[in-house]
Amino acid sequence: MKQLKGSIKRRIWRQDKFRCQLRISPDCIPKLNIENATVDHKVALVNKGKNDIDNLQTACRPCNQLKAIKDQEEKIIRKYKLAMKIR
Ligand SMILES: [Zn+2]
Repeated sequence: MKQLKGSIKRRIWRQDKFRCQLRISPDCIPKLNIENATVDHKVALVNKGKNDIDNLQTACRPCNQLKAIKDQEEKIIRKYKLAMKIR
């Protein structure tokens, strides 16, 4: 995965007011700070998402980790569907 520039991360966090935009984990930390905030790709890079500003959002680590699992699942489903069409 390509590393995002610190300046881009800070821009996303400011834009989202340091609040987790995912809110999917029971361990979600809704109000974040510069120490624990992460940046999530709305459409994951593994699912052909871009490093564009409008594809990025603020997330806490527990939610980001949970979404990473979901993104992997989507990737597998996408590949499965593709394989089914070929047959
Ligand atoms: Zn969260």
